[in-house]
Amino acid sequence: MSMISLSDQVLQLAREAQAEVQGQFAAIDEIAEYNSRKVLAAFQNHRVAEACFAGTSGYGYDDLGRDLLDQIYADIFGTEDALVRLQFVNGTHAIASCLYGVLEPGDVLLSAVGAPYDTMQGVIGITGDYPLSLKKYGVEYREVPISQENTPDRETLAQMAADPKVKAVLIQRSKGYSTRASLSVAEIGELISIVKSVNPNAACVVDNCYGEFVEQNEPSQVGADLIVGSLIKNPGGGLAPTGGYICGRADLVERASYRLTVPGIGRECGCTLGNNRALYQGLFLAPHTVAQALKTAIFAARIMEELGYDTEPHSDQLRHDIIQMISLRTPEGVEKFCRGIQSGSPVDSYVTPVPWDMPGYDVPVIMAAGAFIQGASIELSADAPMREPYTVYLQGGLTYESGKTGILLAVEELLKRA
Ligand SMILES: *Cc1c(COP(=O)(O)O)cnc(C)c1O
Repeated sequence: MSMISLSDQVLQLAREAQAEVQGQFAAIDEIAEYNSRKVLAAFQNHRVAEACFAGTSGYGYDDLGRDLLDQIYADIFGTEDALVRLQFVNGTHAIASCLYGVLEPGDVLLSAVGAPYDTMQGVIGITGDYPLSLKKYGVEYREVPISQENTPDRETLAQMAADPKVKAVLIQRSKGYSTRASLSVAEIGELISIVKSVNPNAACVVDNCYGEFVEQNEPSQVGADLIVGSLIKNPGGGLAPTGGYICGRADLVERASYRLTVPGIGRECGCTLGNNRALYQGLFLAPHTVAQALKTAIFAARIMEELGYDTEPHSDQLRHDIIQMISLRTPEGVEKFCRGIQSGSPVDSYVTPVPWDMPGYDVPVIMAAGAFIQGASIELSADAPMREPYTVYLQGGLTYESGKTGILLAVEELLKRA
């Protein structure tokens, strides 16, 4: 068998980088330990047993495992209720269900920290002009622009949220494809306090994608009315085959359930087809898996910094999500880096990623991913819009060892003819 070959130069860089980040790794282990206990306690308190893993078919009435998992999520995230369903096709669908659940025609949706994630823009009606967008349905959209310093603008948020027509405020924890820093749970708590102080009736909906289990607390513990995310990111632990979750106030979770299915049916239907075990086991692993992704991100930041590239967050900064931005500076740099990541994947390692015109994006996007679950970005993946400043967004790594190997192969590519 031929082994993955790494040059002495790259192995030496790796040793140096790993030695530099031991402090951060220790802090991550501590958070993972805390969150693992939190998850374990919820499993025990709710008396999880083999019977929970049996699935339903058809309508999915009385799916004991599914309904208990809702309670376990609510327990872990500290909320009144939760809705964890395979029928959410992705994170966008789950977030949209929250917004359609909260907002009615004539209401205003306010985005608290600049523009929301690209795919949400079609849902809201900012881009795309799709029928049945929130805009077409009569919901007005307003946005608090990001400040000159690339941070949340608290004063403008206080002014704009005060309008009583504002019925929902969307707060996105992760930066998405923007250049701002991701928000800490504490910062999200401050933004929610501002909103509540001027408009107690507005529902604060937090897009929690990529943030779950990165800190000890979640946005639901600092006042969020709803938090929402994808199961093929952090909380699925790499095992959930698809799906999304919503946690929060019971009345709002119920309303969102009427948008997942239909009014009158809500959460009662939605069979699990034998997938409950993967959702439970994935959630059990999630704090550990998130730690593996965080270590991969920090290692990547450190080794790229050693090579002279700019990173956000820097390898010594506290993390609020699993995303690592690396500025590769040139299109060739981006393509080499992504080629290396792809070649380090367990699936489709022989494929060469190339930029393509992805629906919903205004420039070609390159994506490197060789995942067991299609599109799962808790698995090692890298993507970049092909435009200045040629920044790659790196995330995932089911195990630190495999994530690190992917990064080292990317570094080999970059050093090849440099
Ligand atoms: C991934 C993500 C979403 C949802 O994306 P899907 O591909 O629909 O799961 C929404 N917001 C942010 C910030 C994300 O990272």
